[in-house]
Amino acid sequence: MSIVVDNLSKKYEEQVALDSISFKINKGEIVGFLGPNGAGKSTTMKILAGFIAPSSGEAIVNEQNVLTHPNEVKKSIGYLPENNPLYEEMYVREFLEFIAKIHKIKEHKKAVNEAIAKVKLEKESHKKIGQLSKGYQQRVGIAQAIIHDPSVLILDEPTTGLDPNQLDEIRNLIIDLGKTKTILLSTHIMQEVESICDRILVINNGKLVADDAITSEKSKTKAQTFEVEFDKEISLNKLQNISGVSKIEAKGKSWIISSEKENDLRLIISQFAAKNNLLILTLQKHSDNLEDIFKKLTQ
Ligand code: ADP
Repeated sequence: MSIVVDNLSKKYEEQVALDSISFKINKGEIVGFLGPNGAGKSTTMKILAGFIAPSSGEAIVNEQNVLTHPNEVKKSIGYLPENNPLYEEMYVREFLEFIAKIHKIKEHKKAVNEAIAKVKLEKESHKKIGQLSKGYQQRVGIAQAIIHDPSVLILDEPTTGLDPNQLDEIRNLIIDLGKTKTILLSTHIMQEVESICDRILVINNGKLVADDAITSEKSKTKAQTFEVEFDKEISLNKLQNISGVSKIEAKGKSWIISSEKENDLRLIISQFAAKNNLLILTLQKHSDNLEDIFKKLTQ
């Protein structure tokens, strides 16, 4: 097990930031940590990275407790903090060598070269950090997180503020790093979780509200939505008589019909069409996306 969080709580004076959360992350998993602002994501990540202490509960990284074995944990964990704080006046290599020395890496030049190659920063590595684009600055942040070749990476909002091209590049880099490392990354972007992660943890108000594989989280929702087009016009009033339907919206010539129940909405729509002498021209299922699931879980 790469990460074990057990009944972890954190209070900042009166503010409860984490309220007894527990989860486990297996070796090699890429896990998305989702939640609205203020949910407790950064607090969890700072505790795992050993930057702040929990008020109660345990955080274990590679079998070592972050409170009792902080040095061992720091060796096996790489951390990209939120907003990626960097020394803008330093040159890329100078900064990474500085970080390598903090980690007491003997062959620090070799470690710097390897980290630069891994995040594809060669072309920009002679520049000052402040001269780099946001995407390249993010690569510097990731390079400093992996310079000591940790097996676990904690990335706090690694893609915030990037343009679409930079986003793709950083996502691909994270997927590449995920081939050899366990990764916990926080994000607000749902597509990101779908494209990068094996699993999601959803946190709201300091409590874990979902922990599941992405596909099974999707299949759990009972809501069904179909887009249907009939051959004739039909009034909204009539459609509202369909039993078990929770929501109906017009979309051009079609209707978007939803049900929160487990009954088969296709059958009900077909029966309604037959009873009203309508032909069904199209009947298409809308799958619930992760964004809808997230909203339901955190409302
Ligand atoms: P997230 O990363 O999900 O946006 P945070 O972990 O940053 O959430 O914050 C969780 C809660 O703790 C929020 O209510 C936030 O205002 C509060 N909080 C975070 N850091 C501090 C701090 N240093 N002092 C007081 N309250 C804090």
